[in-house]
Amino acid sequence: MSRDPLAEYRKKRDFGRTTEPKGKRRSGKKNPVFVIQKHDATNLHYDLRFEVDGVLKSWAVPKGPSTDPREKRLAMPTEDHPLDYADFEGVIPEDEYGGGTVMVWDIGPYRNLRADKDDDGATMGEALDEGKVEVALAGKKLKGGYLLVRIGKGKKPRWLLRKLDDDAADARRNPTSTENKSARTGRTMKQIAKDEG
Ligand code: MN
Repeated sequence: MSRDPLAEYRKKRDFGRTTEPKGKRRSGKKNPVFVIQKHDATNLHYDLRFEVDGVLKSWAVPKGPSTDPREKRLAMPTEDHPLDYADFEGVIPEDEYGGGTVMVWDIGPYRNLRADKDDDGATMGEALDEGKVEVALAGKKLKGGYLLVRIGKGKKPRWLLRKLDDDAADARRNPTSTENKSARTGRTMKQIAKDEG
């Protein structure tokens, strides 16, 4: 395995053509961040990323997150991204890897809920290795607990994302369809494409 956690990220991109960050591996701030980027690539999806040990651990969630605890959403792991990717909003050129518009759909600090558990305690690194991540999000759109569980084994494991049944759970809300502006700039996907395309 490569020593540089961002080697795969860099290999896939031509930084002479895309405005995505090259990425410096710097140590994280005190409060780790999560980001969900709406990405209008070949297939529209939502990229879920958590700051862990100096990089953004990443999954592509085809249907995006739900606030209904009964809804399980498929999440496919993707390569680690640099921390400064959390602020990236713009247009990746069509013929480049991941070509299409990217919006910072939600962003904020998160907490590892397993950190304080006596019986089921784990760091984020351990939780990822075990395939069971429990976090509390403090985003602009998403709040409260989420569970991310790895299902199956092999080279391309799938994960499932589900809202925990807490005060922020709401089966009637449908944020991916009704809340479609950038958490960073207030722009719609169309406006981002127009401004930066
Ligand atoms: Mn993507």
